[in-house]
Amino acid sequence: MNPEVPNPTRVLVIDDTVSIHKLIVARLRPEGLEVTAELDGQSGLERAITDVPDLILLDIGLPRVDGFEVCRQLKEHAATRNIPIIFLTGDTDTESKVRGLDLGAVDYVTKPFDEVELRARVRAALRTKRLQDMLEQQSFLDGLTGLWNRAYLDRRLEAELNVSERYGRPLTVVMADVDNFKRINDTHGHLFGDIVLQGIAESLSASARRSDIVARYGGEEFGVLLTGTNLKSAIYVSERLRASTESRLYEARNEVVRVTASFGVACTEDVEGELSPEAMLQAADLALYASKEAGRNCVHLFRRGELVRIPGAF
Ligand code: GH3
Ligand code: MG
Ligand code: MG
Repeated sequence: MNPEVPNPTRVLVIDDTVSIHKLIVARLRPEGLEVTAELDGQSGLERAITDVPDLILLDIGLPRVDGFEVCRQLKEHAATRNIPIIFLTGDTDTESKVRGLDLGAVDYVTKPFDEVELRARVRAALRTKRLQDMLEQQSFLDGLTGLWNRAYLDRRLEAELNVSERYGRPLTVVMADVDNFKRINDTHGHLFGDIVLQGIAESLSASARRSDIVARYGGEEFGVLLTGTNLKSAIYVSERLRASTESRLYEARNEVVRVTASFGVACTEDVEGELSPEAMLQAADLALYASKEAGRNCVHLFRRGELVRIPGAF
C-alpha cells in the first residue's frame, strides 16, 4: 500500500459464459476499468486472492464451486474480505438475490444487463470501496508527521517477515530515537518539539527508498522497514538516515538548533532463532540502546547477538 500511487481500477468477472465476459469488458472498458475474467469458481477464487481486484462481478450458477460458496470463501479470506462483490443473477430469482446480499455482496445486477444500469452499479460499488480504503488508510497514518503509524508498521512487519521467510528475501528493521528530546522540548517548547518531529519525518522519508516503510513508532521514536535489504546494504541506508537527520537545522526564537537521533539496525539474516516481529524489534532496540550508550548520534547493528558500531562494521 503506497498512499501516492494511483493504481488502475481492476474488476474481476467470474462467470462461466465467455460471451458475458466479452459483454462486460465492452461495457466497462470505456469507464477506464481493467477487466479480467475467470470461467469457474475455483479459478475465480484463486485469481481474487493473488490479484486482489477492486471489485468482483460474480455469477451464481458456476461449475464446481457455485457463486454463493465463492462469495462465502472470499469473505472469509483476509486478502479478499474487503473486495465488494456484485452478483450476476437471473431476472426473476429473488431468493438468490437475497441470499447473495446476506452473504455480504454489496449489490446484484440481473441478466441480461442493462448497459447503463451495470455501469452505474459498478461505479457506486467502487465509490464506496474508495471511501472505505481512504478510511482504512487514515487509521494507519500518524497525524503529526503524515508518516505511517505504529499499527501499520507492526502489520507490515508481520507481512514482510512472512514474505521474507517464504522467498528467502532479507528484511531490515531500523529503529531511531531522537537524542535529548526532552531537553529540546524543555528549552524551546512543545510546539517547537513538534516541528522537529515533522522535520525528522521529512528527512527520513527523503532519504529512504520508495519501497521502504517509514513510520513514527511512538513519541520521538521512528521505525523504518527496508524490504529486500541485507545488513551490508542497510549500513549505507541507515547512515544516510542518520546524516540527513543531523544535517537539518531548525529555527527557534533566537537560535538555530541542530537535532540528532540514535539508530539501531537488525536484519532477518542476522537474527537467530524464530523470526517474530517481537524478536526483530527487540534486536533493533538493543542496537539502538547501544548507540545511546556510545554517546548518541550514531548507528549500531545487531549481528548475531553482537552489537557493532558503524562505520567500520565491515
Ligand atoms: P534520549 O537521548 O536518551 O532518548 O533522551 P530523550 O530526552 O530523548 O528521552 P526521553 O525518553 O526522556 O524523552 C522523550 C521526550 O519526548 C519526552 C516527551 O515529552 C517527548 N515527546 C514524546 N512525544 C512527543 C510529541 O509528540 N511532541 C513533542 N513535542 N514531544 C514529545
Ligand atoms: Mg524515547
Ligand atoms: Mg529520545
